[in-house]
Amino acid sequence: MKMKMNQLKRIKFKRVFTLLVCIFVLVLSIRYVISERAQATVKKETEIFTDAKYPTVEMQTLIKDQTHGGYSVNYPTLQIKEIDQTLKAYVNEEIANYQQAIAQKKIPKETSTELTITYDITHYSEQTITILFNEYQFTGGKLGEPSIQTFTFDLPSQRLISLQDIFYENSDYLNSLSMIAFTELKKSKKLAESETLKAKTEPKLENFSQFSILGDTIVLYFQPFLGSNGYSKTQSIAIKKAVFDSILKDSYKNTKTNKNKIEEAPPIHIVTELPKPSGIDPTKKVIALTFDDGPSKEPTTLILDALKDSDSHATFFVLGSRVQYYPEIIQRMLEEGNEVGNHSWDHPQLTRLTEEQVKHQVWDTQAIIKKVSGYEPVHIRPPYGAIDDSVRQCLGGMGVSLWSIDPEDWKLRNKDQIVQLVLSKVADGKIILMHDIYATSAEAAVEIIKQLKAQDYQLVTISELEEVKKQRQEAIPSKG
Ligand SMILES: [Zn+2]
Repeated sequence: MKMKMNQLKRIKFKRVFTLLVCIFVLVLSIRYVISERAQATVKKETEIFTDAKYPTVEMQTLIKDQTHGGYSVNYPTLQIKEIDQTLKAYVNEEIANYQQAIAQKKIPKETSTELTITYDITHYSEQTITILFNEYQFTGGKLGEPSIQTFTFDLPSQRLISLQDIFYENSDYLNSLSMIAFTELKKSKKLAESETLKAKTEPKLENFSQFSILGDTIVLYFQPFLGSNGYSKTQSIAIKKAVFDSILKDSYKNTKTNKNKIEEAPPIHIVTELPKPSGIDPTKKVIALTFDDGPSKEPTTLILDALKDSDSHATFFVLGSRVQYYPEIIQRMLEEGNEVGNHSWDHPQLTRLTEEQVKHQVWDTQAIIKKVSGYEPVHIRPPYGAIDDSVRQCLGGMGVSLWSIDPEDWKLRNKDQIVQLVLSKVADGKIILMHDIYATSAEAAVEIIKQLKAQDYQLVTISELEEVKKQRQEAIPSKG
């Protein structure tokens, strides 16, 4: 019995002791956490993490945690002295410029400012590495300013390189880049309207200072620019290296040494050849074939084959809801020089819809076309041609394209009758409306293309027709 009492006492003591130790540890750890937090809030210095994608790359973070004059800057270090110094010097200079801007503009102490710099390693191979910095700076005024800066290093020599270094001397690479950039950027309505497009794509080295060399493409980046709705996104164009086959230096072409160390997402907006001069003679007859309600598999493909065989182009006003099923057909249309237009998401009469519904119809369609092809349509054809002022206000300046010849192919469903009807009405400058979802319409289109070519018509897209009309100083015909 006595033994038992002693044992019990001992057990009780053990329990109390354990409890005390626990409390002690708990108090210590709480104090530790609090002091860490306190330190973190007063800290203004470097934090280092290993880059999640490239284990040999470390991400450096500089944070000054203040609303006025504060900043958040990330940059990588690669453990390559020359490169690390260049990148560090760049971010330090950006911070200094930002602080100078605040001082010069005499921004009051209570006004908040911002400098945020983040980066992406767009490519890291045996041959080159490219770091793309995205910067956002706000030092008063209405809008903060986004900008980009790329650094491409040749790794064997550890040198910072420009585009001029990757091409053979005396090669005409600048003119090729200029042609491609102008042609591709013009496809975006916003940029086409911007007056600076020509200047920004002139064949000067400084216009092509932002770039990245990937496995089999060269990517050009263009600074965000200020439009009527604020700043645009950074535009990029990936050009297949094959386009520069004879002028690109071998070391930047070599697929082995240019293979990225991690798998990289393929670029969206890819250019595979130099833009061809349009070859359209404005003094000769032109006609625009347009196809609505697609894309579809067989009919659209049949039409595309016929266009390609006769070196002709047409415009396809597609439905956003169908685009997701035929992304490769949209890509083919564009690759072969045809135009893709917007025909709404699922074909409602837009004039009956609320503003919000119209915006969904128009902008979701723009978005899906852009997603699958990198291209943003510049023309819309409202279903049934139904349009009014409130619909127009939702179109963001997109051109409205109607038609001048309507054979009602959807009703006839008879190849010969469609061909006859169209051919009886054709004339220079007309826009023909057909539908690439019916076999009869596609077969008729094949015949119409053949006959029009025989009559010396140039088969052009809506944009090309507008260009010809502009050159002829005529107005584009509306529905009639
Ligand atoms: Zn339609």
